[in-house]
Amino acid sequence: MKISRLPNGSPEIFHTLQGEGPTLGSPAVFLRLSLCNLHCHWCDTPYTWNWEKTPWPHQDGTKFSKAEQIIDLSPAQIAPLINNFHCKRLVITGGEPLLQQNDLLPLLQLLPNTPFLEIETNGTQLSSPYSSGPCGLQGRFLYMIFISEPYSSQLRLFQGPLHPVARTQ
Ligand code: SF4
Repeated sequence: MKISRLPNGSPEIFHTLQGEGPTLGSPAVFLRLSLCNLHCHWCDTPYTWNWEKTPWPHQDGTKFSKAEQIIDLSPAQIAPLINNFHCKRLVITGGEPLLQQNDLLPLLQLLPNTPFLEIETNGTQLSSPYSSGPCGLQGRFLYMIFISEPYSSQLRLFQGPLHPVARTQ
């Protein structure tokens, strides 16, 4: 899985309080996944997607090295880093975390002591397997979909080529 890096190079997995949404103030482990299929110029995490030699504008004007910003870890490598915090809530954020949803299932199955899961998504990738039953993980999720008016415009802009854009990152 492609995880964002902290400034010290370690994967962006940290324990803090949820700062927004209906669980505001709850202790949580945050896992920030890299890559996003939208390229919002106001994004506060452009280091998850705004790579050097890409055409996407951003209000900060900074481009990032994809190789330096991503650490590739397996679910088996990530799970202990989360379990070490002994926290019942996991917030999976990004970037757009559901671009890696096929890898999320094996990870979540390694976190049996984390009953509360939130996925902070831009709402463009709500597809299987989360919307169906076979994974057995229904009911553990709280989706938080962030939509603002300029963001809605961005959604329309990317309405057609969403998946192809995601696969080219
Ligand atoms: S959808 Fe979210 S993470 Fe992706 S570019 Fe927009 S603000 Fe950033």
